[in-house]
Amino acid sequence: MDLLKGKRAVIFGVANERSIAWAISEALHAEGAELAFTYAGEILEKRVRPLAEGIGAKIILPCDVTKDDEIDKVFQTLKQEWGSLDILVHAIAFAAKEDLSNPYVLTGRSGFHLALDVSAYSLVALTRHAAALMEGRSGSILTMTYMGSEKVVPNYNVMGVAKAALEASVRYLAYDLGPRGIRVNAISAGPIKTLAAAGISGFKEMLHYSSERAPLKRNITAEEVARTAVYLLSDMAGAVTGEIVHVDAGYNIMGM
Ligand code: NAD
Repeated sequence: MDLLKGKRAVIFGVANERSIAWAISEALHAEGAELAFTYAGEILEKRVRPLAEGIGAKIILPCDVTKDDEIDKVFQTLKQEWGSLDILVHAIAFAAKEDLSNPYVLTGRSGFHLALDVSAYSLVALTRHAAALMEGRSGSILTMTYMGSEKVVPNYNVMGVAKAALEASVRYLAYDLGPRGIRVNAISAGPIKTLAAAGISGFKEMLHYSSERAPLKRNITAEEVARTAVYLLSDMAGAVTGEIVHVDAGYNIMGM
């Protein structure tokens, strides 16, 4: 299928081949999209560059989202090389390790700022830049969230608060950009074993607990998230904006 033929997408959040952003990238590529990638720091470049080049990407740039100059540089390059943009994928989150294991009440000011800056504010900054390149095109923006924003998930802590801010941002950004034909949505995924997930204390138990209680009685795969991403980022979801779509084997609907 060529659902995304002729579309140009920039991907933030690939760390390695297990990253959800990588599964999404492969799916967008399979649907005909042209991709640009960013990586957070030199160490990750070694992982990201070969993956990106393997699917024909020519634009591969550093971007730590806490640095405005690096964000500016990415979008300046996209403007020079492509002139316009159709898709932004934001699959970025970070919190200090101790803030994902200590009780939430112990979260300090700097840990709170760091988690909210990287995991929530970055969507606002990247969306503002991306929207400037989406004028006159039906742009689509996607971010990744988790149910720890809605309900208490032990150890998810400040990341749950950051995801709540991220999800509210999805709605406000969708409102702001709707008149310009730009859609903003999020996927709320069930737990998947990735680098970021390894930082959450007790992640193994989260996997076990979810698979036992979800209506589908199993965990989900990054490929399943990627297929929903293709839907949300394509014209198939042309009237869908401001939504948080759960891809979690139904876990979130359960009361008991
Ligand atoms: P991952 O570790 O592969 O991806 C996280 C990405 O965030 C990495 O590429 C990392 O480089 C990037 N990042 C961290 N700090 C950054 C910074 N300062 N600047 C730029 N990039 C930075 O893990 P993942 O599980 O694929 O995570 C992707 C997204 O999916 C995250 O938002 C995560 O919260 C969300 N998510 C994950 C799960 C899960 O169980 N794995 C479930 C629901 C939602």
